[in-house]
Amino acid sequence: MFDNKEFFKTAFKEQLVSRLGKSMEEATAGDIYKILGNLIRENIGREWAETNQAYKADREKQMYYFSMEFLIGRLLGNNLLNLGMYDTVREGLKELGWDLETIEEQEPDAGLGNGGLGRLAACFLDSLASLGYAGHGCGIRYKYGLFEQKIVDGHQVELPDPWLQKGYVWEERREDKRVPVSFWGRVEVSEKNGRTVFETVGDEKIWAVPYDVPVIGYGSPHVNTLRLWSAESAVDPAILRSGAQSGPANKGYYQFLDYNRSVESISEFLYPDDSGYEGKLLRLKQQYFLCSAGLRSVLRTFEKLGLPFSELPRKVAVHINDTHPTLVIPELMRILIDEKGFGWDEAWSLTIRTVSYTNHTLMSEALEKWPVNMVRELLPRVYMIIEEINKRFCGMLLERFPGRQDLVSRMAIIESGQVKMAHLAVVGSYSVNGVARLHTELLKNDVMKPFYGLFPERFNNKTNGIAHRRWLMHANPELSRLVCDGIGTGWIENPERLQELERFKNDSLFREEILRIKHGNKQRLSGEIRQKQGIAVDPESLFDVQVKRLHGYKRQLLNALHIMHLYHAIKDDPTAERLPRTFIFAAKAAPAYFLAKCIIKLIHAVMDTVNRDPQMEGRLKVVFLENYSVSLAEKIIPAANVSEQISTAGKEASGTGNMKFMMNGALTVGTLDGANVEMHERIGAENMFLFGLRSEEVMDYYKHGGYWAREIYERDPRVKRVLDDLIVPGPFCRHDREFEVIYQSLLDHNDEFFVLRDFADYADTHAAVERAYWDAQDWAAKSIVNIAHSGHFSSDCTVKRYASEIWKIHPVRNAFEIR
Ligand SMILES: *Cc1c(COP(=O)(O)O)cnc(C)c1O
Repeated sequence: MFDNKEFFKTAFKEQLVSRLGKSMEEATAGDIYKILGNLIRENIGREWAETNQAYKADREKQMYYFSMEFLIGRLLGNNLLNLGMYDTVREGLKELGWDLETIEEQEPDAGLGNGGLGRLAACFLDSLASLGYAGHGCGIRYKYGLFEQKIVDGHQVELPDPWLQKGYVWEERREDKRVPVSFWGRVEVSEKNGRTVFETVGDEKIWAVPYDVPVIGYGSPHVNTLRLWSAESAVDPAILRSGAQSGPANKGYYQFLDYNRSVESISEFLYPDDSGYEGKLLRLKQQYFLCSAGLRSVLRTFEKLGLPFSELPRKVAVHINDTHPTLVIPELMRILIDEKGFGWDEAWSLTIRTVSYTNHTLMSEALEKWPVNMVRELLPRVYMIIEEINKRFCGMLLERFPGRQDLVSRMAIIESGQVKMAHLAVVGSYSVNGVARLHTELLKNDVMKPFYGLFPERFNNKTNGIAHRRWLMHANPELSRLVCDGIGTGWIENPERLQELERFKNDSLFREEILRIKHGNKQRLSGEIRQKQGIAVDPESLFDVQVKRLHGYKRQLLNALHIMHLYHAIKDDPTAERLPRTFIFAAKAAPAYFLAKCIIKLIHAVMDTVNRDPQMEGRLKVVFLENYSVSLAEKIIPAANVSEQISTAGKEASGTGNMKFMMNGALTVGTLDGANVEMHERIGAENMFLFGLRSEEVMDYYKHGGYWAREIYERDPRVKRVLDDLIVPGPFCRHDREFEVIYQSLLDHNDEFFVLRDFADYADTHAAVERAYWDAQDWAAKSIVNIAHSGHFSSDCTVKRYASEIWKIHPVRNAFEIR
């Protein structure tokens, strides 16, 4: 696009004048960002159109990734990188007097997701386009993304995130592609020409208007599409005008405003609940809105091929990211039967050969269930179809397992007045995958055991992955350069080739470089922390990082209690030589998750006490960074020495943060949970710090009891001391029983997540970390091994496995001229 800097500069200056009527001297950073973004958007327009034309001409099978969340973060840097223009543009801008990193900061961080699940969807889009697959995203254009977190007096305060306020350069409104979506009403059944016909009458129709965001692949001519739907009212203003005669008290107009507001609320905000389920009608509306609008546009594209619908599963794959878009199953049935005239059996066969499903959680409180009454009222025809699917499924079960009423009620889709979405997703799809080997095994042998028994061929594992372009090349350019110096550039297209780095693990020069780059990243982060929080952290200290959503099972509490223990240990023996350590946290808690918010408060209390105590100087420091987001993660992770992945074994489905840290050379302190198991398998126990209960032991405790948290409290004086700190005024507790809720969760509610059970092992493991870090050379060797084996966790590898084993799609990179 811009082969050289001069060409870029000329084009840029012309745009600035013609679009904004400003000269270089008058332009603000915001202007520069906008012009640059628009320049790229316009320049890839041709490739975008050509990609779609090529897909159509070749009748390429299309995969659509339906997800309620796409945590895409900022696009400017990643797009420039993928276009191969990052350095050219950076140098060009520099000559124009601007620093590209400053310009990147102007972009709103698109936070259309809560955490790992939404970020996974974003990484997959990047990999799909980079590998040349015809795979697109389908989501909701929330007006407000995930809330912005402010900390006031140690408390989390949520502010709205109006990310679209200044316009969004990457999106294209496609008014012509809008589709109707309908809610409410009642179903009228009639006979027409010997066929039973279902018609929904008295329903409320709204418009779903798509906004398309181009997904640019790395070194590939492909530009795929992330289609985000926005809800708009379908009332024709002309009707209102005709009612205007009724004078100033125009009732119709006020009704219109109310209706308008209720329609727009559908795509107004992202639900901030990471796990745990909110029984809100609005959430159900959002889900159906996505499914109905998304399917309509998928089918419209399919119909342009001029093929019979029997070809649908050969040309279209619809993937659902967790159960949130499960309504695609009954909705596809509805369209095939009511609109395309198929009989039940044929429609069912087409549907279950088109839809595939990823399960993301084993936690029962996060498994979605909807009250029957709500679904029936909001979506009467869809509910009838779910009922029929359930009836047939239960009938089949009784036939296969006569007399097993217990099994039938356990597996039913509708049970005790609730629709169980996970059951519907398994029954109505051809593939069900877990997101790490351990998770898939638990799915098959525990949570979904009877379903696995029934449909063993549907279950498979696809361990999560991360886009190495964003998480290594963009986030850590110096490390990326060092890797290229060492092993060439082959790993960029083929990330598993990072393994070639292993030959440098004993190379002292290479080790020095690894340490130097890490130190530089730590200095940069320290600058950021000083500027944002006014805390001075020493880049020479060990950076120990836990950044992720705040949740009981992720056990930020274990980390905090351990820091309290370290504080006491230093106070007790202030002259002992100690490794200087900085503990860094960032985490958002769901607004209604009281205990999680309390833990944020505790971390702040620990931070205040530790950072103010002169005896801690040069020994211990604690930092909580506000508003964890993709762009903040890109700054923190490259600066980490230690990655905390300490969930209760069996609870973290996979984790992807763990992979980002590994790729940036941090060493993991972790439990054998999620993808940590597979990391351990690749790099061995000598290159990470494992501790804690194994998932079998946790399961055993849950099933057979035998765990008494209070016993540990009585027995281990370190545990007693830090727990008493939660309720007795002292260094961490400012008034009587300040952190009683946490104290109770551990002792009165018997410590659901085994924080106390794993405490001793965790503390010992941290002592081992401290010893290991003294030997910088050896630490660097371990760091190199981690980086070398992280390529396996690139989402490129993950997406290839999804493509060949689930979606049956192939790369089409040679279908047209390479850029
Ligand atoms: C990667 C990522 C996550 C997921 O982190 P886990 O440690 O796997 O929970 C959450 N939020 C953001 C912003 C991320 O980039």
